[in-house]
Amino acid sequence: MGKVILTGDRPTGRLHVGHYVGSLRRRVELQNEGDYDRMYVFMADVQALTDNADNPEKIRQNIIEVALDYLAAGLDPEKCTLFIQSQIPELSELTTYLMNLITVSRVQRNPTVKTEIKMRNFEANIPLGFFCYPVSQAADITLFKANIVPAGEDQEPMLEVTRELVNRFNNTYGPVLVEPSIMLPPEGACRRLPGIDGKAKMSKSLGNCIYLSETADEVWQKVRSMYTDPEHVNLNDPGHVEGNMVFTYLDAFSTDQDFADFWPEYKNLDELKDHYRRGGLGDMKCKKFLNKVLNRTLEPMRERRHEFEKDIPEVYNILKKGTESAREVAACTIDEVRHAMRIDYFNDAELIAEQAERFASKQQ
Ligand code: ATP
Ligand code: MG
Repeated sequence: MGKVILTGDRPTGRLHVGHYVGSLRRRVELQNEGDYDRMYVFMADVQALTDNADNPEKIRQNIIEVALDYLAAGLDPEKCTLFIQSQIPELSELTTYLMNLITVSRVQRNPTVKTEIKMRNFEANIPLGFFCYPVSQAADITLFKANIVPAGEDQEPMLEVTRELVNRFNNTYGPVLVEPSIMLPPEGACRRLPGIDGKAKMSKSLGNCIYLSETADEVWQKVRSMYTDPEHVNLNDPGHVEGNMVFTYLDAFSTDQDFADFWPEYKNLDELKDHYRRGGLGDMKCKKFLNKVLNRTLEPMRERRHEFEKDIPEVYNILKKGTESAREVAACTIDEVRHAMRIDYFNDAELIAEQAERFASKQQ
């Protein structure tokens, strides 16, 4: 079996550094290594509408922002197919069939959905479409027969649901769909990067983000305001690195090369952490270093984004071409699905002959 990689993002805002370390960085690496058969990256606008039904303009505006973030981060439309979810109607069709193979109580047990319901204050008024989005996500993955999904840890429960649905579908109708596995970032800090306030996961919906497209000055303002260690008041106080956002972000971003280039007094992050724990190391120095580390990644992205912003119609054209090519694959899988489910009536000569014979015998 070949390697098919697929991931997506909700076009609910520009992409942030949490997306980058959780998934986008890995996508670009996988793309550049080239060891795969097909790679898809898509904008989940149908999913974004499940909790933004009254604000379609927000989704419409953010399609181009996310597309620019993809291109800026280094996704290359020659190597990976970029597409828009809503333009592939086969996805909605597969979602409908998969919904028959899962119970309401199984969806209710999904911890990510539970957290998101709380976060959005839906309580008793959960939109049905939102509630069902894990099933639509299973359709996104399986329609393209993806077996590798690079994503952050909030996606783990979705992948579990997808695998269950694949098994149920294949056992009921025949072996058509493929079981996917999640590819989590190896570093703990990258799997679920917290927001700059240190409270919840960095998330577009919570306003606690550093966006990939922010200016160097905007990034510095955010780094400066970052939550650190409330007990580290005087310079000589011993400091805590756990729960301290500066160190969490250094865990996610810094390399030994960054120390060699920007702060050669320390060989690596472990040495810096030891000093901070001992006391005698100020937050501001650490924040300045983090700012340099972040900008080393973000500056080339800003430049590339700026180039792509010069020809916006071309960016839409890239999405259109990607969507057309994704749709061809989608149509093939949906044919197989319908055949397996025995709902391909017009292509089934045997069925027509059988029924003709049955009714002919009745006439005699
Ligand atoms: P929304 O608030 O609209 O849900 P989001 O910021 O959670 O947006 P998504 O579009 O839901 O972003 O997530 C896209 C991808 O980025 C997923 O693979 C997800 O795991 C990953 N991701 C999102 N936020 C983080 C984070 N803070 N840390 C690590 N990975 C993340
Ligand atoms: Mg999310």
